[in-house]
Amino acid sequence: MDHRDRKPATRLGHAGRDPQAWRGAVNPPVFHASTVLFDSVAALEEGDRHPFDTFNYGRVGNPTADAFERAMAELEGGYRAVSVSSGLAAITVALLASVKGGDHQLMVDTAYRPTRRFCDTVLAGFGVETTYYDPLIGAGIEELIRPETRALYMESPGSGTFEVQDVPALTAAAKRHGLTTMIDNTWAGSVLFHPLAHGVDISIQAATKYIVGHADAMLGVAIARDKPTFLRLKRMAVMLGNAAGPDDLFLGLRGLRTLEVRLSRHEENALKVARWLEGRPEVARVLFPALPEDPGHALWQRDFSGASGLFGIVLHPVPKAAVAAMLDGLDLFGMGASWGGFESLILPAHPEKLRTATTWDAPGPVLRLHVGLEDPADLVADLDAGFDRLNAAAAGGEGA
Ligand SMILES: *Cc1c(COP(=O)(O)O)cnc(C)c1O
Repeated sequence: MDHRDRKPATRLGHAGRDPQAWRGAVNPPVFHASTVLFDSVAALEEGDRHPFDTFNYGRVGNPTADAFERAMAELEGGYRAVSVSSGLAAITVALLASVKGGDHQLMVDTAYRPTRRFCDTVLAGFGVETTYYDPLIGAGIEELIRPETRALYMESPGSGTFEVQDVPALTAAAKRHGLTTMIDNTWAGSVLFHPLAHGVDISIQAATKYIVGHADAMLGVAIARDKPTFLRLKRMAVMLGNAAGPDDLFLGLRGLRTLEVRLSRHEENALKVARWLEGRPEVARVLFPALPEDPGHALWQRDFSGASGLFGIVLHPVPKAAVAAMLDGLDLFGMGASWGGFESLILPAHPEKLRTATTWDAPGPVLRLHVGLEDPADLVADLDAGFDRLNAAAAGGEGA
């Protein structure tokens, strides 16, 4: 039976593994290698003819990378995958493999901030024009496609504000015009949403987040739907000199084995915390498509098989110092970039500064929460004490 026909939890246990190749060991070894030796001129030439199917040089590939890439291609239903040194590297490789000077591309307005920055600086400098579009535009994207448009980039749910995109409608419109379509699929951890099944050409994963899952490695991967797309991605990554380190690839492989279990616990905990937050008087809105009240819920339910642990809340207007009083004193929620590890995190978000095609006009501050694997009752108690500090600071501020 082909693993592709099995359920995700089963596939995650077996994808990319080949114990017979490693003398029976369950996991592949970590290959620390730069030079690869050949025993004849004929073997060297044969290697040159198949640069991406054999091991020729450490930067181009090694058996640890191959195991991780085979697992990711299987998980996302792609032809092959390209692993690189970070999620952002996977994004920049995918963009550089899809557009060139004189081209135009369509970028979702709620893209991860460094993705926007890359388009506005490096790609703009190379003569690539970017039009940002409303994440909720759906089939209306067709009106933004020009003769020189080459690529459509999606990210769903959107960074910071969690709008769900109609990926099938967007992709269908893009295909009618021959565009390359790509998506940042990090929120879904490659398990909860399968973009390639909806016609997307390249699925991008910041494996740093849920796949590694323990906040201890940087890793990115781009999964290609077909061979020509794979070759464009792989050649670009090799030309840029971008390769993931073998220890990080090993941590990515290790993370995959527990990914489904961790994601379902993240979802369960996140729903408990989100529902509690919905009932709080300080909270104006919870931005989480897994909740029936969320405007993206219907699309999420149609296309996703579950939710991860990352969502947002909009507070009623309060002074900045009151938010700081809440966050500074939290015990279990850490403050810092990245997410997808076992621990809970919280950060102020500033969506109004990160969009140009749409506006964000909620009057109160936005917080982004990552709900980790701790007991949700303890997380709620931590936030409850935080709201006490927020309210005390807000009342003190008024009196002053
Ligand atoms: C973190 C993140 C990235 C970038 O991943 P790195 O491994 O940190 O470079 C890309 N997209 C999204 C949505 C992210 O949250």
